Amino acid sequence: MISEKKDIRALSKDELRSFFESIGDKAFRGTQVYDWLWNKGIHSFDDMTNLSKETRAHLSENFVINHIKVDHIQKSNDGTIKNAVKLHDDLVVESVLIPTKSRTTACVSSQVGCSLDCRFCATAKLKRMRNLNPDEIYDQVVAIDKESRLYHNKPLSNIVFMGMGEPLMNYKNVLESIEKITSEEGLGMSPKRITVSTSGVPKMIKKLADDEVKFHLAVSLHSAIQETREQIMPFAKAFTLTDLRDALEYWYSKTNRKITYEYIVWKDINDKWADIEALVTFCKYVPCKVNIIEYNPIDDGQFQQASSSIIEDYIQALEHNRIPVTVRRSRGKDIDAACGQLANKQ
Ligand code: SAH
Repeated sequence: MISEKKDIRALSKDELRSFFESIGDKAFRGTQVYDWLWNKGIHSFDDMTNLSKETRAHLSENFVINHIKVDHIQKSNDGTIKNAVKLHDDLVVESVLIPTKSRTTACVSSQVGCSLDCRFCATAKLKRMRNLNPDEIYDQVVAIDKESRLYHNKPLSNIVFMGMGEPLMNYKNVLESIEKITSEEGLGMSPKRITVSTSGVPKMIKKLADDEVKFHLAVSLHSAIQETREQIMPFAKAFTLTDLRDALEYWYSKTNRKITYEYIVWKDINDKWADIEALVTFCKYVPCKVNIIEYNPIDDGQFQQASSSIIEDYIQALEHNRIPVTVRRSRGKDIDAACGQLANKQ
């Protein structure tokens, strides 16, 4: 059931303080409530034990706490954990915990479904239902952090916005969630440990630069040839490589921070020398590194990973041009938790 009452977590600390003043109470009660909501992460007004019974009742008459609920957990053989997360309106998104020797990374969703139409991505088939609000994103991180402590005995070290959705199409809420994640009142994580991955929305990349964000930017490039990119990512007709290049140059001039390009090599799509050359040329525009990611097949079988010898050609060409390149192995494939496989199958 969707409640008509306002979610109390949409209020800032100042707004909470004003609320208490408006009902003839002390402003500091607002600070106490804020602390319960964000530092202690409680799910119910009844848990706010330093407030009187009447105050708690008054709050629950006026507000709700729309906390996410981890509905279902799947564990992969490689230690990856996937959460199906139920939202207050019963929609479901997924988030993933990816442990390695040196770090544990949360992969979080920013939208229910996705606004874009990448033909190789399972989430794209879901269409976008709605944007997640800042606390729904924040809650995913908190849930994964708890699991990281529980199953891997260490707190979460990194966050990537590579789950469902296009983060830059939910710009304001994504930035607000990062604000909370990095603030001392929230999780106090360094923005250097956060990466926002975009399919490449030029205007919003420029806005990130203007807003002087401190996190890392990754761009899902997949092809540096306009025509090819349009075929696999049809929205690229509107968001062209020329505009993308321009936005990335602007980003670098303002932030001085390297971009990561995510790149999948597919058979018969981008496995020719011309594709490699175009990538090398594109990589010279702005300091960057390339992350070659393994393709995780989605059901329709239209796309196939290219042979390892072609991937080796890519690596050699990039290295020859002093462009750092890494190859990312898939994690959590057996539970459909790998990149591009998030589609609420469970
Ligand atoms: N919309 C954002 C973030 C979500 S996708 C973006 O496009 O960057 C996260 C990453 O997974 C992107 O690099 C995307 O291109 C990649 N991806 C999508 N489908 C995939 C698949 N089937 N196999 C491997 N990676 C995939």
